Amino acid sequence: MKAQFNATSIELAAGDITLETTDAIVNAANEHLAGGAGVDEAIHRAGGPAIMAECRKIGGCPTGQAVITTGGWLAARYVIHTVGPIYQGGAKGEAGLLSSAYTNSLTLTATKGLQSIAFPAISCGIYGYPVHEAAHLALAACIEFARKNNGIKLIRHVLFDQRTFNIFEQEFKKLV
Ligand code: ADP
Repeated sequence: MKAQFNATSIELAAGDITLETTDAIVNAANEHLAGGAGVDEAIHRAGGPAIMAECRKIGGCPTGQAVITTGGWLAARYVIHTVGPIYQGGAKGEAGLLSSAYTNSLTLTATKGLQSIAFPAISCGIYGYPVHEAAHLALAACIEFARKNNGIKLIRHVLFDQRTFNIFEQEFKKLV
């Protein structure tokens, strides 16, 4: 599924984000940029040690913020590491932090002059965010950014499992 918002195409894809050929892929990192399980582990494994070397130099990233490193061995030239919130029931500012993780990743992409970016479903794994709410927030943040900014041509949401893909599709249909 795909929709156009001004100069930006937003699309959904199923699969493994480490294979993406967008200019940047986004990692759902932790605040220590220490590597972990899930998509974080997959990106470091596929991209090699150059990514962790830069993460160590940067030192960390607060929840809701984003930093950028090389893509190492990946086809994507850069990895944007953002930290989504750990879901704690929804009354701890999680929604704002999740939206910020997307918006700050997009701002970094545009600032670097990159034209395409791929996101995983941030916070939807180990961090436990309910997927319907997370999908709505993810897509709404990207649509709002696309309506206000013209630099990015493609924003792709790469969903690893069929259930997450289906939920993103349902929420996307509501927003388009
Ligand atoms: P978080 O800690 O932010 O919840 P996770 O890595 O645990 O991050 O999960 C985020 C999402 O990324 C989940 O939907 C998970 O299924 C998905 N995921 C795991 N591996 C990959 C991959 N290689 N490509 C794309 N998405 C992935």
